[in-house]
Amino acid sequence: MKAAGIDVVSFGAGEPDFNTPRPICDAAIEAINQGYTKYTPSAGTPQLRAAIAEKLERENGLRYQPEQIIVSCGAKHSVYNTMQVLIDPGDEVILIAPYWMTYADQIRLAGGVPVVVHTRSENSFIPEYDKLREAISPKTKAIMVNSPSNPSGAVLPRETLKEIAMLALRHGLWVIADEIYEHLIYDGLKHTPMASLGNEIFERTITINGCSKSYAMTGWRIGYAAAPLPVAKAMSNFQDQVTSNPTSFAQKGAVVAMGLDPSTIETMRAEFEVRRDLIYRLLTEIPGVKIMKPKGAFYALPDISAYLGKDMKSDADLATYLLDTANVAVVPGSVFEGAGHIRLSYAISREDIEKGVARIAEALGKRVA
Ligand code: PLP
Repeated sequence: MKAAGIDVVSFGAGEPDFNTPRPICDAAIEAINQGYTKYTPSAGTPQLRAAIAEKLERENGLRYQPEQIIVSCGAKHSVYNTMQVLIDPGDEVILIAPYWMTYADQIRLAGGVPVVVHTRSENSFIPEYDKLREAISPKTKAIMVNSPSNPSGAVLPRETLKEIAMLALRHGLWVIADEIYEHLIYDGLKHTPMASLGNEIFERTITINGCSKSYAMTGWRIGYAAAPLPVAKAMSNFQDQVTSNPTSFAQKGAVVAMGLDPSTIETMRAEFEVRRDLIYRLLTEIPGVKIMKPKGAFYALPDISAYLGKDMKSDADLATYLLDTANVAVVPGSVFEGAGHIRLSYAISREDIEKGVARIAEALGKRVA
């Protein structure tokens, strides 16, 4: 529709709308100019692995050795490596829904079985302990945790993370902690890394992170996993046969990102918080729409089930209706096992947020809530 010249407001983007900070770009350009364009070690350069280890200690209180860190082509690749080395056919992995859809497909690609624990907007998308416990079977291999969350914007409280850690230790499970949105967190909340909750859980956690969201580097494709040494070695061997190293000069940029002045990230985070407040206020003003105030990442996940009925059965139908009648693109919640919701990314300008939500309100107003 955009290509046809139609003025579409897209709430679909899963990436920051900021440019990659200048010092990161300069380092990569300099690397290319110096001929740093060859293979590197498959698991990443010693320089970047050391810079990541330093970052994890400085910002997250996690003491990983550089050999425990595997740098990959984006955090998506890191999650993939993790699933491939941990999951055997038939193994179950617990997902807390709504979840980033990639997890389920990557579990299946490894021959595993996603087991879904549902959460509700009224409970801030926080999983109930009993439901998590009941989801564990003799086949369970791991629990996937993503806080702050895509798509819900939920941030799991420390207590919930502790409960998950306790269950994992009691049942001998792995915890895969995708912490890629750690810096995008609001209301003065502080990110709690799963692996920081004690030595025992540190030994059972694979920490996933990367450059895409915190440093506006989605196209650079640099992510990483930090894991107990045997798991890290298996991932390194696996990656060696699949992709080899992530791009050499992108790694040079990532080294600078790891040591970036926190004020650079803060500028972006603060802008996202203003937009979060804006989109939350505007969405709450639409009759019948229920929404949890997002606490992290850059997504809002309003419950629009009041607008579903006979002629418009699903969130996917509603998303199509909004695109057709209001020229607004949103992602149906059912994609994330969050039926009855739609996901709006607020990684777009304040003007577009205002324009887009006004269009949604008008389109929904034509229907009886
Ligand atoms: N994890 C989550 C929860 C995401 O939302 C995304 C991207 O949308 C990623 C990982 C992937 O990030 P990357 O660009 O590093 O592959």
